[in-house]
Amino acid sequence: MKRSAFVLLGCLLLAAAPPVRAAEPEVRVILWFDTEDYLLPASDEAAKRVAEILTARGIRGTFKVVGEKARVLERRSRADVIAAIKKHDVGYHSNLHSVHPTPAEYLAECGWLDGIAEFVRRERAGARDVRRIFGVPGLSCYGQPGSSWAPQAVAALRQIGVVGPGGVSCYLDEGSHVGVEEKPFWYCGVLTVYNLGRNQARMDLFGPGGLEKGCAEFRAVYDRLRREGGGLVSIYYHPAEWVHREFWDAVNFRRGANPPREEWREPPQRPPDETEAAYRRFEKYLDFQLSLPGVKHVTASELPAIYKNRIGAEGADLATVADVAEKIARAGVLDILRDRRGRLVSPAEQFWLIASFLARSIGEDRIPLQLDVQELLGPSERPPLTEVADLPWRAFRDALLDAFDEVRARGQVPAIVFAGVKKIAPADFLRAAASVAQRAIAAGPGSRPAFPETVEVPRGTTLATERFVAEDAPDLFGGWIIHPEGFRAPRIVEMAKLQAWTLKPAEQ
Ligand SMILES: [Zn+2]
Repeated sequence: MKRSAFVLLGCLLLAAAPPVRAAEPEVRVILWFDTEDYLLPASDEAAKRVAEILTARGIRGTFKVVGEKARVLERRSRADVIAAIKKHDVGYHSNLHSVHPTPAEYLAECGWLDGIAEFVRRERAGARDVRRIFGVPGLSCYGQPGSSWAPQAVAALRQIGVVGPGGVSCYLDEGSHVGVEEKPFWYCGVLTVYNLGRNQARMDLFGPGGLEKGCAEFRAVYDRLRREGGGLVSIYYHPAEWVHREFWDAVNFRRGANPPREEWREPPQRPPDETEAAYRRFEKYLDFQLSLPGVKHVTASELPAIYKNRIGAEGADLATVADVAEKIARAGVLDILRDRRGRLVSPAEQFWLIASFLARSIGEDRIPLQLDVQELLGPSERPPLTEVADLPWRAFRDALLDAFDEVRARGQVPAIVFAGVKKIAPADFLRAAASVAQRAIAAGPGSRPAFPETVEVPRGTTLATERFVAEDAPDLFGGWIIHPEGFRAPRIVEMAKLQAWTLKPAEQ
C-alpha cells in the first residue's frame, strides 16, 4: 500500500472513530486477595502465580497481607513472591487472622476508646512487619479476618499505618455489619468498600460450569451498572484457594480451638492438575472482564482519587450553613443531607458545621463567611435522654461553647452536652443549635449575629443512619467457622450504631 493510501485510511479511521469514550459509564472492578495462609507452603507459590496472572494482563490487584504471612515469606526466603505481590497494591489483613482472640472476640468486651487502643496494641506490629517486609510506606487498606469486624478497627487504621494517598484510609472487605445501598461509603472517616451485595461477584474456581456461570453473573452485574451510569464491582479470592482442599484456619482454629503454635497443622493440598485448571479458569474470567467496554480494574489506593469527600475538601460558605441548618431544623430526625451544591453531609459533619458556625459567631461577634468542615467520629457512649425543654440564651451559649471545645479536643461528637448539671443528647442539641444558627444568619453576612432569648430543645431525636448498621443476630459474628458456636457481640453492634453519625455514601 502506498503512503497516500495509508494517510487516507488513517483519516477515514479517525472520521469513523466512535464518540469520546469518557462519556460511557465506567464499570470499575476491584479485585482483592486475602493473603493469609501462613501454614501451607504451596500457598506462597499460589500468591505469586495469581499476582503474575494479573501482571501479565496489565491488571493491578489489591493483596491484603496477614502479618504472620509476611514474616513467613521472609523466613522462607520468598523474595520472589514478595516481588510479584509488590507489583500490586499491598493492604493489611490483621496480624494473626484466626488465632484467638480474633478482633471481634477481644473487641466484644471493649468500649470505644479502649477498643481503639486494644486494636492498635494487638495489630500494629503486624502492620509494621508487612510494611517493612514489602518495603511500602503505607498500607492501602485493611479488612477483617472472617466476620471479625468492629468499628474500633475502622477508626484505628490511621494509627497502624493503613493510610493511602492524600491521607485517606480505606476499608476493603465483605460482610453485612454495615452497608449503604451496595456502594462505597464513608464510615469513621474511612473510605469503605463493604457489603456490596449484588455488586459483589465471584467465579467458582473448581465447580463444573463455574467459568460460564461466573462470566454470566459478572455480565449481569456489568449490564445493570452500565444502565445505572456506572459503579463498582468487588471480587475477592484467597490465593490459598487455588491449592488447598480446606482453609488453613478451619483445620486449626475451628469454633474457638486454639492450639499452640507448635501444634499448627498444614491443610490438605489439591492435586497439581486441579490447581492448574483453576488458574486457567481464572485467566479466562479476567479476560472476559477485559473484553467488555468500559471495564476498568482499580486498586484500594486508587479509590480516594475516585471518591472524594467534597464538602470536607471544599468547606462551606454561609449559604451552605443556612441551607444545612434549615434542613436539620425542619426534619424530625438526623439523617444524611445533600446541600445546595449537591454535596452529601453526614450527621457528624452537620454537628461540626453548626457548632463551629455558632462558636465562631459568638467568639467573633460576627457572622463568619466561610467554614472548614472537619471530620468527627461518633460519640463514645449511648447518649442520655434530654433533660431540658428550653434554655435561656446564655445557658445555651455556654453549653455550646463547652460542647465545641470537646469536639475540637477529642475529634468526636460529644456523648452528652451539659447545660450545667442537665444532660442533653447530641442529636437534640444539634437540632436546637440549627434553629439558633438559622436565626443568627438572618442578620446577614459580616454583621453581628442575632440570638434568641430562649432556645427550645427538642427531645428524642433519632439518628436515622443507624438503619445502615445490622441488628445483632446469631450469624452476624457467629457465622464464621473460627468463632465459637453462638458467638455474639452486642457491644460491637452498639458501638457501630454510635458511629452511624459518620455515615454517608461515597460519591464521585
Ligand atoms: Zn481472611
